[in-house]
This record gives sequence, structure tokens and C-alpha cells, in this order.
Amino acid sequence: MKVVFFGPPGSGKGTQAIKFAQRFRNPHLSTGDILRKAIEEGTETGLKAKSLMDAGQLIPDSDIVAIVRDRISQSDCQSGFILDGFPRTLEQAHDLERFLKGHSEELDYVFEFKVPTELLIERITGRFSCKKCGAAYHPTMNPTKVADVCDRCGSSDFMKREDDTLDTVKGRIAVYEGQAQPLLSYYSRLGVCASIDAVGSVEEVFNRVIKSIEK
Ligand code: AMP
Repeated sequence: MKVVFFGPPGSGKGTQAIKFAQRFRNPHLSTGDILRKAIEEGTETGLKAKSLMDAGQLIPDSDIVAIVRDRISQSDCQSGFILDGFPRTLEQAHDLERFLKGHSEELDYVFEFKVPTELLIERITGRFSCKKCGAAYHPTMNPTKVADVCDRCGSSDFMKREDDTLDTVKGRIAVYEGQAQPLLSYYSRLGVCASIDAVGSVEEVFNRVIKSIEK
């Protein structure tokens, strides 16, 4: 399956994209994760992206498009992929379309995640994750079962994303809102767009995603 998870920061699209990828056995491709890894490894791409990411701005289309083209050309993506955080602009969507057309392929679904802005801000400014295994938490919405101990791996080493501060989050939501409408219109015209109410538990939202496919 070739699927795009699209939504504002904090809408839970990453969590859902991972679950969806596991269910349908397709690789999960998060452009944010790819860029954070590049920063950690100190690559040229990472160095270029860091200041833009810290400021909550998008990295240039030409750079991200090259990264995604390279990744989806790899053998594990031949039977499908789950994109999380890409495309974010109309230009990126057009490039993906060109790439897929060149391989006589097309997207199966674009899931648009909808969450009220106040809830997005509360989710993102609170969220933190286990440094060791990546499990995600929130102090009130999804706390660890035992204080300061990761439920999944037992580590006590937690981290917050550098771009999850209140100011940056507001900027990232504004960037999303500036780009979303043309992209959604484009995918609606292609007839692949499904709107998902993303307020609720992880299981509730996942069931809505699956139901929208069954429809
Ligand atoms: P995310 O983890 O999806 O919230 O992405 C974190 C940051 O990575 C974004 O705020 C952007 O700076 C950058 N980024 C991720 N995906 C893209 C994309 N498709 N286009 C441009 N920048 C991106």
C-alpha cells in the first residue's frame, strides 16, 4: 500500500502511521525522523536542516524531495510505503506524483488528521519520549505507569524534542495551516483523501483509520 499520513504537528499521525505500517507490513517513512537522524550523524543534510527545524520552518522542497525519492526507490519500498510528514507542500505532492507515475503507480490513501489547535499545543508542549526505545509519553494524557520509568524498556532516560517549545509549536502549526488547504484540495481531486477525527485514544483513532479504508 502507498499511503500518506497528513496532519498538523501533535495530531498523532506519527503514532498512527507506525501502527498502520506494522499492520500492513510496509515501511514507515517519517521525514522528520530521517532529518533528526541526519542531524545526529552530523551529515551535510543534517547540518543544513538543523537551524530550519529548530525554528519550526520547512526545509527546502528540493532537499526533502531528493531524500524521499532516494528512500522510496529502495527495495523494501517496492510493494508500498507509509509516508509520515511528507508531502507537506504542493510542490512536494507534485514531485511524488511524478515519481509514482514514472513507475506506473499511484497513492492509495491520504489520511488527513483533524485535531483542535488548543489540544495540539497541549499535546506537543507536554510530550516526551524514551531516549532508548523511542516510546512516546505525556505527563497527563499518557503518563508512564511507574514515575520516570519507561513502560516499554525500563529506561529512565527521557528526552523532549528541541522543536517542541511553545513558540516553535505555534510557528509549526501556522506553517502547516499555510500549506494544508491546497494540498488537501489536490488530494481530494485525486479522490484519495480521507478525513480522520484524531481526538481520542490511539486505538479509537486507529479504528477510524481502518474503517475509512473499509468504506
Ligand atoms: P516532524 O517530525 O514531521 O514534525 O518534522 C520535524 C521538522 O522536520 C519540520 O518542522 C521541518 O522542519 C522538517 N521536515 C519534516 N518533513 C518535512 C517536509 N516534508 N518538508 C519540509 N520540511 C520537513
